[in-house]
Amino acid sequence: MTRENLLAVAEAYGSPLYVYDTTKMESQYKRLTKAFSKVKQVKVNYAVKALSNISVLKFLHSLGAGMDTVSIQEVKLALEAGVPPEMIIYTPNGVSLEEIEKAVSLGVQINIDNLSILEQFGTKHPKTPVCIRINPHVMAGGNTNISVGHIDSKFGISIHQMPHIQRILENTKMTINGIHMHTGSDILDVDVFLYASEILFEAATHFKDLEFIDFGSGFKVPYKAGDVETNVEEFGEKLSERFNEFCKSYGKELTLAFEPGKFLVSEAGKFLAKVNVVKQTTSTVFAQIDSGFNHLIRPMLYGSRHEIHNISNPEGRERFYSVVGYICETDTFANNRRISEIREGDILAFDNAGAYCFTMASNYNSRYRPAEVLWHHKKAHLIRKRETFDDLLKNQVVIDL
Ligand SMILES: *Cc1c(COP(=O)(O)O)cnc(C)c1O
Repeated sequence: MTRENLLAVAEAYGSPLYVYDTTKMESQYKRLTKAFSKVKQVKVNYAVKALSNISVLKFLHSLGAGMDTVSIQEVKLALEAGVPPEMIIYTPNGVSLEEIEKAVSLGVQINIDNLSILEQFGTKHPKTPVCIRINPHVMAGGNTNISVGHIDSKFGISIHQMPHIQRILENTKMTINGIHMHTGSDILDVDVFLYASEILFEAATHFKDLEFIDFGSGFKVPYKAGDVETNVEEFGEKLSERFNEFCKSYGKELTLAFEPGKFLVSEAGKFLAKVNVVKQTTSTVFAQIDSGFNHLIRPMLYGSRHEIHNISNPEGRERFYSVVGYICETDTFANNRRISEIREGDILAFDNAGAYCFTMASNYNSRYRPAEVLWHHKKAHLIRKRETFDDLLKNQVVIDL
């Protein structure tokens, strides 16, 4: 999308606004599948929680993606988008047995991440094959150290509990058709990830009915110039070779699965907001936009850096700004950021606004959640209306007092 396209979309649909470009989603999807083209059966399950608009799900499914879901509601959204249940995996954490049974009744693959539910589920439904989520206790962090910490992570069944898993399988006669890990950390050093994969391969040898091995996600995308990103091509090359070798020794062609969220949609998204006020104080210049952490919370929640461009005045002289919001709470998007001169009424575009942005939006300060637009085949399509006052009233029950 060009700057002119973005301005036209902001003009047509108002601000604040999320815009997603399908071209970028498609190139990322193809890049990933190409990197693993040497493996016969590869499954990319898009992590719905990153961006759950049904039109986005439909688009990614049209490329061949399945869906990775973490709640029964996400399962329903994926089904609503036309994704067949057998292409949906449900990977919840800490949910009730009832919710898991609900997912089974909808026909999706379930992934169990604790021994208590594994035992209860296996006892009640020994005929339903399940995937189990293993915690390999490896954190592939930002450096080359292999940290075997993370022992207290709430995710997955510890690799050290393998004997207990096996005891449950013997007692219940249930079938394990997949094993999974998702460390939640960035794959910056391919070798660290491969080290974690070895642990998963070793675990896999304990199960004789596997159909797939799911390596989760962790693909890192650049947020600013010079950022380290996952070398997907090198990763694909190395893991594919190792995976094929494993399948040979296992004696069966397994499916290699991934569940990227950020990698597929982060860079495809822009968040557009309008500058209401430019305010000089004794120490800084504030640019106050018509938004806040109610619409984009990542900078405040995780300290994430989103590049900000003044698309209304790209040639303006650069100055240092603090970009803040309009809600009654500290809501700093960027501090001391060099941006081309900002005037009241200008539109600012935030990069990397596809993943974990709209899906984390709220109604704090009784503001409406923004509209969403899909940029597809060089045309804008409204895929979610801006909320209205009725949405704020919808579930309120007004009583006589
Ligand atoms: C969130 C999540 C993902 C996606 O992670 P990204 O960093 O967005 O790629 C994948 N798998 C599971 C189980 C998740 O919870």
